Amino acid sequence: MPYEGEYAHYQPLKRIVESERVQQLLRRSRVLDPATLTHHATPKTPPVADKTLPSLVLAIDGSNAEVDVRNGYPGAKVGYCSVASVVLNLDEVERLDENRPVNPIEFRRTEDLSSDACALPGCNVITRDHVAAKDSFREAVFDLLHDAIVDEEDNTRLLATYQALLRYKPEGTISCPYTHLGCERQVSIMEHLSTCTCGRKKPLFPTDALRIHERFNDESGSNGEAFGYVRGVWEHLLLIHLLRCFEQRNWFDRLGSIAFFLDGPLAVFGPPAWMSAAMKKELQRLNAVVREKTGNDMIIVGIEKSGNFVAHFADIDKRDDGGQNFQPESYFLPTDAYIKQRIIFSDSDKQYGKDTYFGRKLFYKTKSGAQIVANIPFLSSEQDTLDSDDPSLYPRFGTICALLDKLVTSRFPNALGPIVSAHAQASIPLHLGQKVLKQLAQALMRK
Ligand SMILES: [Zn+2]
Repeated sequence: MPYEGEYAHYQPLKRIVESERVQQLLRRSRVLDPATLTHHATPKTPPVADKTLPSLVLAIDGSNAEVDVRNGYPGAKVGYCSVASVVLNLDEVERLDENRPVNPIEFRRTEDLSSDACALPGCNVITRDHVAAKDSFREAVFDLLHDAIVDEEDNTRLLATYQALLRYKPEGTISCPYTHLGCERQVSIMEHLSTCTCGRKKPLFPTDALRIHERFNDESGSNGEAFGYVRGVWEHLLLIHLLRCFEQRNWFDRLGSIAFFLDGPLAVFGPPAWMSAAMKKELQRLNAVVREKTGNDMIIVGIEKSGNFVAHFADIDKRDDGGQNFQPESYFLPTDAYIKQRIIFSDSDKQYGKDTYFGRKLFYKTKSGAQIVANIPFLSSEQDTLDSDDPSLYPRFGTICALLDKLVTSRFPNALGPIVSAHAQASIPLHLGQKVLKQLAQALMRK
Protein backbone atom coordinates (compact mmCIF):
# COMPACT_ATOMS: atom_id res chain seq x y z
CA MET A 1 0.00 0.00 0.00
CA PRO A 2 1.45 3.36 -0.93
CA TYR A 3 1.21 6.13 1.61
CA GLU A 4 -1.22 8.86 0.75
CA GLY A 5 1.53 11.28 -0.27
CA GLU A 6 3.34 8.65 -2.30
CA TYR A 7 0.22 7.94 -4.30
CA ALA A 8 -0.21 11.62 -5.04
CA HIS A 9 3.30 11.76 -6.48
CA TYR A 10 2.95 8.55 -8.39
CA GLN A 11 -0.26 9.31 -10.27
CA PRO A 12 0.88 12.37 -12.27
CA LEU A 13 4.18 10.64 -13.18
CA LYS A 14 2.24 7.69 -14.51
CA ARG A 15 0.10 10.07 -16.55
CA ILE A 16 3.24 11.64 -18.03
CA VAL A 17 4.65 8.26 -19.05
CA GLU A 18 1.35 7.38 -20.71
CA SER A 19 1.09 10.70 -22.49
CA GLU A 20 1.13 10.70 -26.30
CA ARG A 21 4.34 12.78 -26.47
CA VAL A 22 6.30 10.36 -24.29
CA GLN A 23 4.90 7.36 -26.15
CA GLN A 24 5.83 8.93 -29.50
CA LEU A 25 9.38 9.47 -28.28
CA LEU A 26 9.60 5.86 -27.12
CA ARG A 27 8.35 4.60 -30.49
CA ARG A 28 11.23 6.44 -32.11
CA SER A 29 13.81 5.02 -29.70
CA ARG A 30 15.88 1.89 -29.82
CA VAL A 31 14.40 -1.15 -28.11
CA LEU A 32 16.54 -4.05 -26.95
CA ASP A 33 15.23 -7.15 -28.70
CA PRO A 34 16.30 -10.28 -26.79
CA ALA A 35 16.22 -12.30 -30.05
CA THR A 36 19.05 -10.24 -31.55
CA LEU A 37 21.44 -10.58 -28.63
CA THR A 38 24.77 -12.20 -29.47
CA HIS A 39 26.55 -11.60 -26.16
CA HIS A 40 25.51 -13.58 -23.14
CA ALA A 41 26.71 -13.77 -19.58
CA THR A 42 28.15 -17.16 -18.76
CA PRO A 43 28.82 -17.55 -15.05
CA LYS A 44 32.15 -19.22 -14.31
CA THR A 45 33.99 -20.47 -11.27
CA PRO A 46 36.75 -18.07 -10.21
CA PRO A 47 40.40 -19.18 -10.09
CA VAL A 48 41.69 -20.51 -6.79
CA ALA A 49 42.48 -17.88 -4.16
CA ASP A 50 45.92 -17.33 -2.66
CA LYS A 51 46.72 -19.64 0.25
CA THR A 52 46.39 -16.83 2.78
CA LEU A 53 43.82 -14.08 2.37
CA PRO A 54 44.63 -10.54 3.47
CA SER A 55 43.90 -10.16 7.15
CA LEU A 56 43.23 -6.42 7.02
CA VAL A 57 40.75 -4.48 4.94
CA LEU A 58 40.99 -0.75 4.56
CA ALA A 59 37.76 0.75 3.25
CA ILE A 60 37.34 4.33 2.09
CA ASP A 61 33.95 5.94 1.76
CA GLY A 62 32.74 9.51 1.70
CA SER A 63 29.51 11.41 1.74
CA ASN A 64 28.39 14.91 0.95
CA ALA A 65 25.40 17.02 1.84
CA GLU A 66 24.22 20.56 1.34
CA VAL A 67 22.55 22.64 4.03
CA ASP A 68 20.78 26.00 4.05
CA VAL A 69 22.50 28.61 6.16
CA ARG A 70 21.45 32.08 7.31
CA ASN A 71 23.80 34.91 6.45
CA GLY A 72 21.32 37.53 5.31
CA TYR A 73 21.51 36.51 1.64
CA PRO A 74 18.67 34.46 0.21
CA GLY A 75 19.29 30.85 -0.69
CA ALA A 76 22.67 30.72 1.01
CA LYS A 77 24.01 27.18 1.24
CA VAL A 78 27.01 25.34 2.56
CA GLY A 79 28.31 21.97 1.44
CA TYR A 80 29.51 19.35 3.85
CA CYS A 81 31.91 16.68 2.70
CA SER A 82 33.40 13.89 4.71
CA VAL A 83 35.58 10.93 3.96
CA ALA A 84 36.03 8.06 6.34
CA SER A 85 38.30 5.11 6.33
CA VAL A 86 37.92 1.98 8.34
CA VAL A 87 40.49 -0.68 9.04
CA LEU A 88 38.85 -4.03 9.54
CA ASN A 89 40.71 -6.93 11.09
CA LEU A 90 39.44 -10.02 9.31
CA ASP A 91 41.10 -12.50 11.66
CA GLU A 92 39.08 -10.99 14.48
CA VAL A 93 35.89 -11.06 12.43
CA GLU A 94 36.46 -14.72 11.70
CA ARG A 95 36.99 -15.46 15.38
CA LEU A 96 33.70 -13.72 16.19
CA ASP A 97 31.95 -15.44 13.31
CA GLU A 98 32.57 -18.77 14.92
CA ASN A 99 30.29 -17.67 17.74
CA ARG A 100 27.31 -16.41 15.77
CA PRO A 101 25.18 -14.37 16.22
CA VAL A 102 27.84 -11.70 16.50
CA ASN A 103 27.49 -9.19 19.28
CA PRO A 104 27.48 -5.78 17.53
CA ILE A 105 29.68 -4.23 20.20
CA GLU A 106 32.21 -7.02 19.83
CA PHE A 107 32.04 -6.55 16.06
CA ARG A 108 32.71 -2.84 16.46
CA ARG A 109 35.96 -3.73 18.21
CA THR A 110 37.23 -5.40 15.04
CA GLU A 111 37.06 -2.07 13.26
CA ASP A 112 39.14 1.06 13.62
CA LEU A 113 37.56 4.13 12.16
CA SER A 114 38.89 7.50 11.27
CA SER A 115 37.17 10.28 9.42
CA ASP A 116 37.69 13.81 8.29
CA ALA A 117 35.23 16.42 7.18
CA CYS A 118 35.15 19.84 5.63
CA ALA A 119 32.63 22.57 4.93
CA LEU A 120 32.57 24.16 1.48
CA PRO A 121 30.95 27.46 0.48
CA GLY A 122 27.83 27.02 -1.61
CA CYS A 123 25.55 29.47 -3.29
CA ASN A 124 25.68 32.98 -1.81
CA VAL A 125 28.35 32.17 0.75
CA ILE A 126 31.29 34.45 0.07
CA THR A 127 34.32 34.31 2.32
CA ARG A 128 36.49 37.33 2.98
CA ASP A 129 38.77 38.64 0.21
CA HIS A 130 36.50 37.19 -2.43
CA VAL A 131 33.86 38.74 -4.62
CA ALA A 132 32.07 35.59 -5.67
CA ALA A 133 30.99 32.34 -4.01
CA LYS A 134 32.73 30.44 -6.80
CA ASP A 135 36.10 31.90 -5.77
CA SER A 136 35.43 31.07 -2.13
CA PHE A 137 34.60 27.53 -3.21
CA ARG A 138 37.81 27.24 -5.26
CA GLU A 139 39.88 28.38 -2.34
CA ALA A 140 38.11 25.97 0.02
CA VAL A 141 38.89 23.04 -2.30
CA PHE A 142 42.55 24.05 -2.31
CA ASP A 143 42.53 24.47 1.49
CA LEU A 144 40.94 21.06 1.88
CA LEU A 145 43.83 19.32 0.13
CA HIS A 146 46.38 21.64 1.67
CA ASP A 147 45.17 21.23 5.25
CA ALA A 148 44.22 17.58 5.15
CA ILE A 149 46.93 15.75 7.01
CA VAL A 150 45.95 12.14 6.80
CA ASP A 151 47.92 11.04 9.77
CA GLU A 152 49.11 12.95 12.79
CA GLU A 153 52.44 11.14 12.57
CA ASP A 154 52.90 11.82 8.92
CA ASN A 155 53.00 15.38 7.74
CA THR A 156 52.63 14.67 4.06
CA ARG A 157 49.69 16.63 2.82
CA LEU A 158 47.02 15.31 0.51
CA LEU A 159 48.06 18.22 -1.71
CA ALA A 160 51.44 16.59 -2.33
CA THR A 161 49.69 13.50 -3.66
CA TYR A 162 47.44 15.68 -5.79
CA GLN A 163 50.50 17.48 -7.18
CA ALA A 164 52.08 14.14 -8.02
CA LEU A 165 48.99 13.23 -10.03
CA LEU A 166 48.86 16.67 -11.64
CA ARG A 167 52.32 15.96 -13.06
CA TYR A 168 50.78 13.13 -15.12
CA LYS A 169 48.13 15.42 -16.57
CA PRO A 170 48.72 16.28 -20.23
CA GLU A 171 49.60 19.93 -20.60
CA GLY A 172 46.78 22.25 -21.46
CA THR A 173 45.02 25.40 -20.51
CA ILE A 174 41.65 26.15 -18.97
CA SER A 175 39.45 29.23 -19.18
CA CYS A 176 40.50 31.61 -16.43
CA PRO A 177 38.24 31.00 -13.41
CA TYR A 178 37.70 34.80 -13.20
CA THR A 179 35.38 35.15 -16.18
CA HIS A 180 32.95 36.87 -13.82
CA LEU A 181 35.53 39.66 -13.48
CA GLY A 182 35.82 39.92 -17.24
CA CYS A 183 38.99 37.88 -17.75
CA GLU A 184 38.85 35.99 -21.03
CA ARG A 185 42.30 34.44 -20.99
CA GLN A 186 43.26 30.82 -21.21
CA VAL A 187 45.51 29.99 -18.29
CA SER A 188 47.88 27.15 -17.40
CA ILE A 189 47.40 25.77 -13.92
CA MET A 190 50.66 25.24 -12.06
CA GLU A 191 51.61 22.77 -9.38
CA HIS A 192 51.81 25.63 -6.88
CA LEU A 193 49.83 28.82 -6.33
CA SER A 194 50.17 31.24 -9.23
CA THR A 195 48.36 34.26 -10.59
CA CYS A 196 46.46 35.03 -13.75
CA THR A 197 48.59 36.90 -16.27
CA CYS A 198 45.97 39.61 -16.69
CA GLY A 199 46.30 42.93 -14.84
CA ARG A 200 44.15 41.75 -11.93
CA LYS A 201 46.77 39.20 -10.88
CA LYS A 202 44.14 37.06 -9.17
CA PRO A 203 45.25 33.81 -7.52
CA LEU A 204 45.10 30.52 -9.40
CA PHE A 205 45.07 27.40 -7.27
CA PRO A 206 46.64 24.09 -8.35
CA THR A 207 43.23 22.54 -7.64
CA ASP A 208 41.68 24.77 -10.34
CA ALA A 209 42.92 22.10 -12.76
CA LEU A 210 40.11 19.90 -11.43
CA ARG A 211 37.70 22.41 -13.01
CA ILE A 212 35.02 21.53 -10.48
CA HIS A 213 34.26 25.26 -10.18
CA GLU A 214 32.90 25.15 -13.74
CA ARG A 215 29.95 23.23 -12.32
CA PHE A 216 29.47 25.64 -9.44
CA ASN A 217 26.33 27.81 -9.42
CA ASP A 218 27.01 31.20 -7.91
CA GLU A 219 23.60 32.64 -7.97
CA SER A 220 21.00 30.08 -7.22
CA GLY A 221 20.28 26.50 -6.65
CA SER A 222 22.09 23.47 -5.46
CA ASN A 223 25.77 22.69 -5.79
CA GLY A 224 25.35 19.04 -4.92
CA GLU A 225 27.04 18.07 -8.17
CA ALA A 226 30.16 20.13 -7.40
CA PHE A 227 30.31 18.86 -3.81
CA GLY A 228 29.95 15.29 -5.11
CA TYR A 229 32.98 15.80 -7.37
CA VAL A 230 34.99 17.11 -4.43
CA ARG A 231 34.07 14.05 -2.36
CA GLY A 232 35.00 11.69 -5.23
CA VAL A 233 38.37 13.36 -5.78
CA TRP A 234 39.06 13.26 -2.05
CA GLU A 235 38.23 9.54 -1.73
CA HIS A 236 40.44 8.63 -4.67
CA LEU A 237 43.28 10.86 -3.54
CA LEU A 238 43.17 9.25 -0.12
CA LEU A 239 43.68 5.81 -1.65
CA ILE A 240 46.70 6.94 -3.69
CA HIS A 241 47.98 8.93 -0.72
CA LEU A 242 47.90 5.91 1.60
CA LEU A 243 49.66 3.75 -0.95
CA ARG A 244 52.35 6.39 -1.36
CA CYS A 245 52.73 6.55 2.42
CA PHE A 246 53.22 2.77 2.40
CA GLU A 247 55.89 3.21 -0.22
CA GLN A 248 57.67 5.90 1.79
CA ARG A 249 57.57 3.82 4.94
CA ASN A 250 58.83 0.73 3.18
CA TRP A 251 55.68 -1.18 4.03
CA PHE A 252 55.19 -2.67 0.58
CA ASP A 253 56.32 -6.12 1.71
CA ARG A 254 53.31 -6.07 4.07
CA LEU A 255 50.88 -5.12 1.33
CA GLY A 256 49.97 -8.75 0.75
CA SER A 257 48.01 -8.72 3.99
CA ILE A 258 45.94 -5.62 3.20
CA ALA A 259 43.06 -5.15 0.77
CA PHE A 260 41.79 -1.71 -0.16
CA PHE A 261 38.08 -1.18 -0.75
CA LEU A 262 36.57 1.92 -2.27
CA ASP A 263 32.92 2.83 -2.33
CA GLY A 264 31.78 3.23 -5.94
CA PRO A 265 33.31 2.43 -9.32
CA LEU A 266 37.03 2.83 -9.98
CA ALA A 267 36.40 5.89 -12.09
CA VAL A 268 36.49 9.67 -11.99
CA PHE A 269 33.68 11.42 -13.83
CA GLY A 270 33.00 14.98 -14.96
CA PRO A 271 35.52 17.82 -15.14
CA PRO A 272 38.15 16.10 -12.94
CA ALA A 273 38.08 12.96 -15.13
CA TRP A 274 41.73 13.49 -16.16
CA MET A 275 42.57 12.22 -12.68
CA SER A 276 41.48 8.75 -13.77
CA ALA A 277 44.36 8.36 -16.25
CA ALA A 278 46.75 9.92 -13.75
CA MET A 279 45.64 7.50 -11.05
CA LYS A 280 46.03 4.58 -13.41
CA LYS A 281 49.61 5.62 -14.14
CA GLU A 282 50.43 6.07 -10.47
CA LEU A 283 48.81 2.75 -9.50
CA GLN A 284 50.78 0.99 -12.23
CA ARG A 285 54.00 2.58 -11.01
CA LEU A 286 53.25 1.57 -7.42
CA ASN A 287 52.15 -1.93 -8.41
CA ALA A 288 55.37 -2.50 -10.34
CA VAL A 289 57.29 -1.82 -7.11
CA VAL A 290 54.92 -4.07 -5.15
CA ARG A 291 55.36 -6.91 -7.67
CA GLU A 292 59.10 -6.62 -7.37
CA LYS A 293 58.91 -6.84 -3.59
CA THR A 294 56.16 -9.41 -3.16
CA GLY A 295 55.76 -11.12 -6.52
CA ASN A 296 52.05 -10.27 -6.47
CA ASP A 297 49.62 -7.46 -7.23
CA MET A 298 47.99 -5.08 -4.79
CA ILE A 299 44.35 -5.72 -3.94
CA ILE A 300 42.13 -2.75 -4.71
CA VAL A 301 38.40 -3.20 -5.17
CA GLY A 302 35.63 -0.73 -5.91
CA ILE A 303 32.08 -1.66 -4.90
CA GLU A 304 29.06 -0.38 -6.80
CA LYS A 305 25.86 -0.33 -4.81
CA SER A 306 23.58 1.15 -7.43
CA GLY A 307 23.44 2.01 -11.11
CA ASN A 308 22.99 0.26 -14.44
CA PHE A 309 25.45 -2.53 -13.80
CA VAL A 310 23.84 -3.45 -10.50
CA ALA A 311 20.40 -3.45 -12.14
CA HIS A 312 21.71 -5.51 -15.06
CA PHE A 313 23.27 -8.14 -12.78
CA ALA A 314 19.91 -8.53 -11.00
CA ASP A 315 18.23 -8.85 -14.43
CA ILE A 316 20.45 -11.54 -15.91
CA ASP A 317 20.45 -13.55 -12.70
CA LYS A 318 16.67 -14.05 -12.94
CA ARG A 319 15.45 -17.09 -14.82
CA ASP A 320 11.97 -17.43 -16.32
CA ASP A 321 11.30 -20.47 -14.15
CA GLY A 322 11.98 -18.43 -11.02
CA GLY A 323 15.48 -19.85 -10.52
CA GLN A 324 18.79 -18.06 -10.72
CA ASN A 325 21.45 -18.16 -13.43
CA PHE A 326 24.39 -17.51 -11.14
CA GLN A 327 25.31 -20.21 -8.70
CA PRO A 328 26.99 -19.13 -5.47
CA GLU A 329 30.72 -18.55 -6.02
CA SER A 330 30.45 -17.75 -9.71
CA TYR A 331 31.56 -14.67 -11.62
CA PHE A 332 31.16 -12.92 -14.92
CA LEU A 333 33.60 -10.42 -16.39
CA PRO A 334 31.72 -8.22 -18.90
CA THR A 335 33.71 -7.37 -22.02
CA ASP A 336 33.54 -4.16 -24.02
CA ALA A 337 31.29 -5.79 -26.63
CA TYR A 338 28.97 -7.16 -23.97
CA ILE A 339 28.68 -3.83 -22.16
CA LYS A 340 27.90 -1.96 -25.38
CA GLN A 341 25.28 -4.45 -26.50
CA ARG A 342 23.61 -5.20 -23.20
CA ILE A 343 24.21 -2.43 -20.67
CA ILE A 344 25.27 0.94 -22.06
CA PHE A 345 24.37 1.03 -25.74
CA SER A 346 27.17 2.24 -27.99
CA ASP A 347 28.34 1.81 -31.59
CA SER A 348 31.65 3.46 -30.90
CA ASP A 349 35.04 1.77 -31.34
CA LYS A 350 36.30 3.53 -28.26
CA GLN A 351 36.55 1.27 -25.22
CA TYR A 352 33.74 1.71 -22.73
CA GLY A 353 34.80 4.14 -19.98
CA LYS A 354 38.17 4.82 -21.65
CA ASP A 355 38.41 8.37 -20.28
CA THR A 356 36.87 7.80 -16.89
CA TYR A 357 37.64 4.29 -15.62
CA PHE A 358 40.93 2.98 -14.26
CA GLY A 359 39.46 -0.46 -13.74
CA ARG A 360 36.75 -2.81 -14.97
CA LYS A 361 33.53 -4.39 -13.74
CA LEU A 362 33.29 -7.80 -12.20
CA PHE A 363 29.99 -9.48 -11.37
CA TYR A 364 30.35 -11.90 -8.51
CA LYS A 365 27.80 -13.98 -6.69
CA THR A 366 29.11 -14.70 -3.23
CA LYS A 367 28.97 -17.97 -1.37
CA SER A 368 26.01 -16.53 0.55
CA GLY A 369 24.22 -15.64 -2.69
CA ALA A 370 24.77 -11.85 -2.74
CA GLN A 371 25.16 -10.16 -6.12
CA ILE A 372 28.22 -7.93 -5.98
CA VAL A 373 29.25 -5.54 -8.74
CA ALA A 374 32.91 -4.98 -8.01
CA ASN A 375 35.53 -3.04 -9.95
CA ILE A 376 39.12 -4.24 -10.23
CA PRO A 377 41.89 -1.84 -11.31
CA PHE A 378 44.16 -1.98 -14.35
CA LEU A 379 47.41 -2.48 -12.46
CA SER A 380 49.51 -3.15 -15.58
CA SER A 381 49.21 -2.38 -19.27
CA GLU A 382 48.21 -6.02 -20.02
CA GLN A 383 45.35 -5.73 -17.53
CA ASP A 384 44.11 -2.56 -19.22
CA THR A 385 41.64 -4.24 -21.54
CA LEU A 386 37.95 -4.97 -21.81
CA ASP A 387 38.40 -7.32 -24.77
CA SER A 388 39.50 -10.35 -22.81
CA ASP A 389 37.54 -12.05 -20.07
CA ASP A 390 40.47 -14.18 -18.99
CA PRO A 391 40.75 -13.85 -15.20
CA SER A 392 44.39 -14.99 -15.25
CA LEU A 393 45.24 -11.44 -16.36
CA TYR A 394 44.50 -10.45 -12.77
CA PRO A 395 46.64 -12.52 -10.39
CA ARG A 396 44.50 -11.54 -7.40
CA PHE A 397 41.17 -12.42 -9.05
CA GLY A 398 40.48 -15.57 -7.03
CA THR A 399 41.57 -13.90 -3.82
CA ILE A 400 39.26 -10.95 -4.44
CA CYS A 401 36.30 -13.29 -4.91
CA ALA A 402 37.19 -15.16 -1.72
CA LEU A 403 37.47 -11.85 0.14
CA LEU A 404 34.04 -10.82 -1.11
CA ASP A 405 32.66 -14.08 0.26
CA LYS A 406 34.14 -13.25 3.61
CA LEU A 407 33.08 -9.63 3.70
CA VAL A 408 29.44 -9.78 2.76
CA THR A 409 27.48 -9.13 5.87
CA SER A 410 24.35 -10.91 6.83
CA ARG A 411 22.97 -7.57 7.96
CA PHE A 412 23.07 -5.98 4.52
CA PRO A 413 22.32 -8.49 1.75
CA ASN A 414 24.20 -7.10 -1.22
CA ALA A 415 26.57 -4.82 0.66
CA LEU A 416 29.94 -5.33 2.23
CA GLY A 417 30.71 -5.01 5.91
CA PRO A 418 33.58 -2.54 5.89
CA ILE A 419 32.00 -0.38 3.23
CA VAL A 420 28.84 -0.18 5.28
CA SER A 421 30.87 0.79 8.34
CA ALA A 422 32.85 3.44 6.51
CA HIS A 423 29.67 4.82 5.07
CA ALA A 424 27.98 4.97 8.45
CA GLN A 425 31.02 6.80 9.73
CA ALA A 426 31.15 9.24 6.83
CA SER A 427 27.48 10.01 7.30
CA ILE A 428 28.01 11.06 10.89
CA PRO A 429 29.83 14.37 11.18
CA LEU A 430 32.20 13.13 13.84
CA HIS A 431 35.79 14.20 13.93
CA LEU A 432 37.68 11.32 15.39
CA GLY A 433 41.08 12.57 14.38
CA GLN A 434 43.08 11.35 11.47
CA LYS A 435 44.92 8.31 12.50
CA VAL A 436 44.47 5.75 9.81
CA LEU A 437 48.20 5.15 9.27
CA LYS A 438 48.75 4.81 12.99
CA GLN A 439 45.98 2.22 13.16
CA LEU A 440 47.48 0.35 10.25
CA ALA A 441 50.93 0.44 11.77
CA GLN A 442 49.55 -1.00 15.01
CA ALA A 443 47.58 -3.68 13.20
CA LEU A 444 50.64 -4.64 11.16
CA MET A 445 52.82 -4.76 14.26
CA ARG A 446 50.40 -7.12 15.97
CA LYS A 447 50.83 -9.64 13.22
ZN1 LIG B 1 42.30 35.73 -15.58
